[in-house]
Amino acid sequence: MDSGSPSSTLVWLRDDLRLDDNPALSEAASLGQPLIVVYVLDEDSPGVRPLGGATKWWLHHSLTDLAAALEAAGSRLLLRRGPATDIIRDLALETGASTVLWNRRYGGPERRVDAGVKDWAAEHGLKAASFQANLMFEPWTVRTGAGGPYKVFTPFWRACLDGSEPRLPLDAPERLPAPSTDAGGRPPAGDALDSWRLLPRRPDWSGGLATTWQPGEAGAWQRLADFLDGPAEDYGTGRDVPGVEGTSRLSPHLRFGEISPFRIWHALRERFPHSAPADVGIFRSELGWREFCWQLLYENPQLATRNYRPEFDRFAWQAPSNAELAAWQQGRTGYPLVDAGMRQLWQTGWMHNRVRMAAASFLVKNLLADWRLGEAWFWDTLVDADAASNPANWQWVAGSGADASPYFRIFNPVTQSRKFDAGARYLREYLPELSGLDDKAIHEPWKAGGLAAGYPEPIVGLPESRARALETYQRLKDG
Ligand code: FAD
Repeated sequence: MDSGSPSSTLVWLRDDLRLDDNPALSEAASLGQPLIVVYVLDEDSPGVRPLGGATKWWLHHSLTDLAAALEAAGSRLLLRRGPATDIIRDLALETGASTVLWNRRYGGPERRVDAGVKDWAAEHGLKAASFQANLMFEPWTVRTGAGGPYKVFTPFWRACLDGSEPRLPLDAPERLPAPSTDAGGRPPAGDALDSWRLLPRRPDWSGGLATTWQPGEAGAWQRLADFLDGPAEDYGTGRDVPGVEGTSRLSPHLRFGEISPFRIWHALRERFPHSAPADVGIFRSELGWREFCWQLLYENPQLATRNYRPEFDRFAWQAPSNAELAAWQQGRTGYPLVDAGMRQLWQTGWMHNRVRMAAASFLVKNLLADWRLGEAWFWDTLVDADAASNPANWQWVAGSGADASPYFRIFNPVTQSRKFDAGARYLREYLPELSGLDDKAIHEPWKAGGLAAGYPEPIVGLPESRARALETYQRLKDG
């Protein structure tokens, strides 16, 4: 950079791809120095989990949206790829930055990277500062009376609610300082987004994702508005019905930080200012589950690979055959609710929460497969695949996790679909070959002509596989 130029500020964006309520960006704007906004695709730092296919697709579109928003505000998004510590250090030297700012992350490897950058900055006389942006209750601030982390959700959430109200969100800066330039007037050079090859090709399986989602801040705000105008007031019952849009579908937007939880929290407050209906409280507690999952990951950085409850290390999982695993992944198990969910996941990158629980229970209990197999498939196919919520929920279903569902709770996919999709709206949407069956027969197609329509026979019997799971658990308990 030009030696006579003023020093600049570096803002390093990660899972906070937004201008609204972005404390690091707002602080940078207030400093008034030339501003470099950088996103680093880091697949090289030890332990950092590479993105799955669906989240890569999302990231491409989210970065496109973010770049346009930054440009409209007078700034520019710089893209670089490599181990983040090296990239940020080199960029700071190259641009003569005096200050590096970011919003905090809570995963183990990411924290190590961030600490490395902070140490380097301190050694070289740069100011480095981090901000709270993506969790309303940072893990180390919510402690039991004995000073440890909570292991059960309800007291965790009560402790959060007993503390101070989450802070007000910050509005997006209207104008951002332009980037610093070199002697030739050029801003720092970065990668072209297309060169990262985040989008699938040959085959391009992303058509259903593109028609379902609008990655980026505008899409996130639209989802929030639709939710507040629609399902929010009836969330307590609507959230369990997969055939209606009874939930917010904000999860991928939260995953990439396109909207802040503080913004969502206060939008609910504004919409329901006085006595918030119980449904709003239930929705808030779902946001609380997200915070709880992050607290679990913070305390257990290996949540995606290790049983939270170590006694499960002795559990006799059975490796499913390739055919069984493929049947589950492709939605061909012969159980309509599981299959509809797995096809929804493949087509849209998202699955309804109740169906996630039923599909996961089928894999880990009826097929007795290790939960890590399912976690990895969801990691690759979910647009909201989240380093904390995905393993925490898989372990919850498997019984090996914190505050887990008791092992003997084995979701019966037929009972679940009769109860929560009585009119079979969801089943018919994703299993067109069964659409000719009536509302009663469609839940058990093997009994009523569904097989003739090309739908598979059940790959395991429910009573036998349930009994096998319970026996396996009993052996674990007996030691
Ligand atoms: P809403 O019902 O509108 O809830 C609002 C927000 O609360 C969600 O966007 C999400 O951020 C949070 N939330 C809701 N339920 C949970 C929960 N059980 N755990 C943590 N946060 C929650 N959620 C993810 O965000 N990423 C994942 O990778 C993920 N993997 C899962 C795997 C399994 C096996 C199961 C059973 C659940 C998983 N979930 C995951 C949790 C939940 O299914 C989704 O958060 C929810 O379906 C997202 O839809 P929504 O935005 O409409 O949720």
